[in-house]
Amino acid sequence: VCAFEPKAKVSDACASYADLDQLNTRLHPYVRSLANNTDFFSYYRLNLYDKQCPFWSDENGLCGNIACAVTTIENEGDIPDIWKAEELSRLEGPKAKHPPRKEQRELQRPLQGELGDGVGESCVVEYDDECDERDYCVPEDEGAGTKGDYVSLNDNPERFTGYSGEGAHQVWDAIYRENCFSKPGAVKSQSAGSLSSDPFSPFGQNQAQAAMDFKQVMKAHDRQQAQSAGAAEDGPDFEDECLEKRVFHRVISGMHTSISTHLCYDYLNQTTGEWGPNLQCYKDRLHRKPERISNLYFNYAFLLRAVGKLRDYVQDYTFCTGDTVQDARTKKMITVLADAIPAGPKIFDESVMFTDHTLTGVELKEDFRNRFRNVSRIMDCVGCDKCRLWGKLQTNGFGTALKVLFEFGHGDVGQEKPLLRRTELVALINTLDKTSSALKALEYFRAAVEAETTGV
Ligand code: FAD
Repeated sequence: VCAFEPKAKVSDACASYADLDQLNTRLHPYVRSLANNTDFFSYYRLNLYDKQCPFWSDENGLCGNIACAVTTIENEGDIPDIWKAEELSRLEGPKAKHPPRKEQRELQRPLQGELGDGVGESCVVEYDDECDERDYCVPEDEGAGTKGDYVSLNDNPERFTGYSGEGAHQVWDAIYRENCFSKPGAVKSQSAGSLSSDPFSPFGQNQAQAAMDFKQVMKAHDRQQAQSAGAAEDGPDFEDECLEKRVFHRVISGMHTSISTHLCYDYLNQTTGEWGPNLQCYKDRLHRKPERISNLYFNYAFLLRAVGKLRDYVQDYTFCTGDTVQDARTKKMITVLADAIPAGPKIFDESVMFTDHTLTGVELKEDFRNRFRNVSRIMDCVGCDKCRLWGKLQTNGFGTALKVLFEFGHGDVGQEKPLLRRTELVALINTLDKTSSALKALEYFRAAVEAETTGV
């Protein structure tokens, strides 16, 4: 039993991590297949080159390595029908025209009724950067007549690019600075020491005491380990901070861990010119950093919970393939995946967040949302195209998970669920895939260190 406190550390002895590893072993091939083998999920459309960094001049931080380049799809013929601008324009006809969001709320009737025959709401083009107030990200423009870059995600794997130094650090610094919530009234009702108030509590609340005891042992163990390894703790001290702020930090830090894992796992050996795992890279960045690893597990649980919650939503979703067989197959795959995720708050209990219904609670949520949007804007400052692609996609993926967890069913009675853009769905599934693959890569690295230590 293990407590997922902000300072909790991963340990081989911790059953809950083992449980998540087990779950991942079962789900990983499925998530991979969904992300890699369906047209809907293996392409992405985003504005990769035209958005300027809104915070500083990014000219100095540009990555000149060939590995930083992204291969975009220039030839319309190579884009699957689902993603073709032509297809999008076809859906842009008057019948499929999306009622303005304000009207939607006033109409208070099923959105489907407003659309043309056989046109699902997910087929409707997003015209501009219009932001739903419940979005956690600045949306990537999908509009048919607007500039967008088509990318095959399979052709542009997330891997080592050589992007580093001051430019990369400046971006990470800016991202972590977003965690400095300033609201003096931030909710402190979720005590840092209470397992039952942590959203990530795989074993439920009835074992809280056992977990607390275990936690004390683990803390002492980790402190000792960290001291002997000279490992430093990341991030601010959260002992006295509100739960939401801790969650914000864990999401960002877990994403950072995932990126580091991928770049170490698919590393370019500059002597041989071959790509493969680099054990030293893992040791330097992650091996003695239990908190970073813990935050990756946290993200896995968090994303799984969001995908699980989408089960019913996708039943009415039209994937716009124009190919009913492929459409049905994609829907079936998501449904099977969602069904395989333990239901209820067993893995991640989002209901303990933003529970303060006073004005302060609302403000905190707004603050949280705005800060996350800022993180998505900071991605335009990443000076390496490939890193920017995956940074944007994953931020969008986490933003979508936040939207699903905190805006679906958290609104006023009668308020419709927010729409999910296709880029949001694609980002969510691919972010889950990246996180799940990172956990698998960590298994490989742990075994490699063990083999090195024991000589076997
Ligand atoms: P960095 O990873 O740059 O970390 C900077 C500091 O942040 C560390 O010194 C540490 O104090 C802290 N830190 C590190 N990890 C964590 C964590 N998990 N939680 C909390 N704090 C932490 N490079 C690639 O090769 N391929 C990519 O695809 C790629 N994508 C990127 C995407 C983004 C959005 C950004 C900003 C950078 C990306 N990079 C990528 C660069 C990469 O992340 C590193 O910045 C680079 O490899 C330099 O690493 P570093 O060892 O100096 O530390």
